[in-house]
Amino acid sequence: MFHRVDLDGFAVEAISRNVARVSYATSLMKRGVLISTTEHLLSAFIGTGIDNAIVELDNLELPILDGSARPFVELIQQAGIRKQRRPRTYLRIRHALELHEGDKFIAVYPAETYSVSYTINFPHPLIGKETFSVELANGNYFREIASARTFGSRQDEQTLRNMGLIRGASRENCVVLTRDSVENPPLRFADEFVRHKVLDLIGDLALLGKQILGNVVADRAGHAMHTALVSRLLRDQTLWEETTVEDQRHAVLTSDQALVGQTA
Ligand SMILES: [Zn+2]
Repeated sequence: MFHRVDLDGFAVEAISRNVARVSYATSLMKRGVLISTTEHLLSAFIGTGIDNAIVELDNLELPILDGSARPFVELIQQAGIRKQRRPRTYLRIRHALELHEGDKFIAVYPAETYSVSYTINFPHPLIGKETFSVELANGNYFREIASARTFGSRQDEQTLRNMGLIRGASRENCVVLTRDSVENPPLRFADEFVRHKVLDLIGDLALLGKQILGNVVADRAGHAMHTALVSRLLRDQTLWEETTVEDQRHAVLTSDQALVGQTA
């Protein structure tokens, strides 16, 4: 739940129904009140196993920070996570759902855990075709995904600034691509780009409102297809069931992982 403290705490729920505009980032809107660039923080929440939080912000855009989810994860760890009494509800996929749009593809398949596989094919000497697959368990999110930064060109930057977004500095909050290299090396992973797409996808799927149990596969998708998958899933209740699983295997992380400062 987002609260715009600059607008008397106006509340915008982080749910599919409020998805407003998706191009470079995912934005929520309710009665004209915008919350822009939600995906990195929501990804950090899923990655740290949080499904109940109030986010207060005093502007329409979430801070981009270093362009990854790592600063959010670190702050969540510092603040601590309160375990609640009520069992967590998961959305368990029962039947496959596949969406195609030109050569783009996104799908979700039944599985007992949450896993993501992403393929990109980006015409750049450092990128090209990359696939990254990860099961969101055993701290994999922290090690493999959280630090991967967003990337873009100087041209993208100008477009975003014209849209009134990314008001901060740029070299510090994304990997800036030049024609054949990056302007601000080093990369954090050789395949940082596709890992960041996984980070974005996890953040967009958080708009389901529940953690998913399923295998999500994406090929050259983007925010628009991520959020389309979410709304198509929610519309067809024969594709999934709600379940509360006690088994820690199903959780994104187990209780002994990284929940420093956990309160009672
Ligand atoms: Zn992103």
